[in-house]
Amino acid sequence: MIKNPANANASTDAMGVDSEAAAATAKRAALSARKIAQERRDRVLATCPSCYTNLPATGECGYCA
Ligand SMILES: [Zn+2]
Repeated sequence: MIKNPANANASTDAMGVDSEAAAATAKRAALSARKIAQERRDRVLATCPSCYTNLPATGECGYCA
C-alpha cells in the first residue's frame, strides 16, 4: 500500500490545529488560574483583621471602624 501524501499533509495539519488548540487551552487555563489567585488575594484583603467580616470596597469595617 502506497501512502497518500494528501493524508500525510492532512495529519500534519490536524497536529498543527491540535497544538494550537492545546496552546489556547493552556493560555486560558493560565489566565483563569491567575484570576482565581487574584480573587483569593482580594478576598484576603477584603476581610477585617479584627472580626473577619467581609469588608466593602472602601476597606472600612462597619463593626470596627
Ligand atoms: Zn471588623
